Amino acid sequence: MPVEPGRFANPPASGLRVTWLGHSAVLLEIDGHRFLTDPVWSERVGPVGFMGPKRWFPPLVALKDLPPLDAVVLSHDHYDHLDYATIVALKDRVTFVAPLGVGAHLERWGVPADRIVEVDWWDTHTFGDLTLWAVPARHASGRELFVDDGATLWAGYAFLGADHRVYYTGDTGLFPGMRTIGERLGPFDLTMIEIGQYDQAWPDWHLGPEQALEAHRRVRGAVMLPVHWGLFALASHGWTEPMERALAARDSGAVLISPRPGQSVEPTVEKPQERWWPALPWRKAAEYPGRRGPRGMSHRQGALKAAPPDSRAMCPCGRQGTSVAG
Ligand SMILES: [Zn+2]
Repeated sequence: MPVEPGRFANPPASGLRVTWLGHSAVLLEIDGHRFLTDPVWSERVGPVGFMGPKRWFPPLVALKDLPPLDAVVLSHDHYDHLDYATIVALKDRVTFVAPLGVGAHLERWGVPADRIVEVDWWDTHTFGDLTLWAVPARHASGRELFVDDGATLWAGYAFLGADHRVYYTGDTGLFPGMRTIGERLGPFDLTMIEIGQYDQAWPDWHLGPEQALEAHRRVRGAVMLPVHWGLFALASHGWTEPMERALAARDSGAVLISPRPGQSVEPTVEKPQERWWPALPWRKAAEYPGRRGPRGMSHRQGALKAAPPDSRAMCPCGRQGTSVAG
């Protein structure tokens, strides 16, 4: 669903509107402020432009047609979240909020230092009457094979506006501190929680669908928008499986919305639940449990062991490695 220019000219009547643009890119309008999370406009993700997983649909809005933004909010430096070409295209227009260390990438790419806000977990930055909190996540970072593992921080975010609260996981596994996020900063009107690109081999780096719902409960979420699916294939599961499993795991307490990519939703007043994706075979959690990876294995080791050589599977970081996806 392409986003027509001018869509965002009028503020949302409810004060909260969200437009999922595929994978983890979301245009969030909250109480008079606008943010864009993890924007990736490139055709492929990975260190080499002509390789790496390719997006399934073109960008739904041209960068030049984006409305004015308070900030681009970056969760970590993996290629499917931090996209060089997108950053360069936006570098003179917006402020970037990024976890510790990620600012060095941005500076190297020409973003003026005064447009970079680096945050540690539990740091805050204010945009008028809105407070943006960087919150803990359980993940990894790195853009070069074996060279910069974990050199920069990863984070989730909580957006606390005058009337609404929104939580974004970034990339994360499940961890006990999610309850602390919920206690300190919740309840949240909307959660944007990653549900896709999980694998048995890297159980600690991604939630997967069932744990995404548990994360939603832990942070005290009302409406949940699943993200990190539907644009790139970075794991070996079928592309509709994350959403099918999330719907199957939903209990009465969770309101899961499933907007089409590019569809704008005011989640406190509209709950789109159309199954717009095709009916394809998928594996249930019991057939393919997300957390039975070999203990003590790093996610790269896991990916190297788990990925069939001819598969499109990659570890979630979006790196393209040797002959097997790494
Ligand atoms: Zn990642």
